[in-house]
Amino acid sequence: CGIVGYVGREEAAPILLDGLSKLEYRGYDSAGVAVYGAREGMQVSKAKGRLQVLNDLIRGGETVHGTIGVGHTRWATHGAPSDVNSHPQVSENGRFAVVHNGIIENYAELREFLQSIGVQFVSQTDTEVVAQLLEYYYDGDLLMAVTRTLHAIRGAYALGILCADCPDRLIAARKDSPLILGFGDGAHYLASDVTALIKYTREVCWLEDGEIAELTADHLWVYDAYLRPVEKERHHVDWEI
Ligand code: GLU
Repeated sequence: CGIVGYVGREEAAPILLDGLSKLEYRGYDSAGVAVYGAREGMQVSKAKGRLQVLNDLIRGGETVHGTIGVGHTRWATHGAPSDVNSHPQVSENGRFAVVHNGIIENYAELREFLQSIGVQFVSQTDTEVVAQLLEYYYDGDLLMAVTRTLHAIRGAYALGILCADCPDRLIAARKDSPLILGFGDGAHYLASDVTALIKYTREVCWLEDGEIAELTADHLWVYDAYLRPVEKERHHVDWEI
């Protein structure tokens, strides 16, 4: 299982598919991507099975357009492997697309609360509560919605978040699941593992537990859980893979 993300000036889908192929060794049962395009809006493609199934579905990325996106390979913990349980998981109105590795321990009570106020769930995953909570907390301020959501959930996560209202930026967050950020030329990346990035950049930093990152093509900011800025040290990865 693994997550990847890209924001830059190139078509995102082929980069996401390539990154996911480097994470295949971690094991998975489904795969998916969400890409946002100015004309196309949020495009979510996902399927149970090998990465090749997703690859065929979007013809190697040809049918999906946009320069920002997130991708996922899933190892199901909550909800059987299926197309609908694959990630990205999306909020009811489609504004948020979320990829997640790990387990949201209190998902059942959060789901019950959201259902009690009328939110319709479509999957059996723990991850869907993250997408729906983001929408619940969203009042026009993406980072606030993210911090409120992270304070509500318990468990382990590496998260990649794409919001249709802010299509120039990706959000990454982690707790007890690995997540690495990459610095490209007019691009930034996120991934579970450096192997997914090495083809594109060797300049990286590791996100620590409780940190949140905001990535645009030209900038990368890291914050703590209370949105205080954090200075990150950049590392050069010089080993061969
Ligand atoms: N718990 C999530 C699910 O079952 C994520 C699993 C994973 O780490 O791939 O959908």
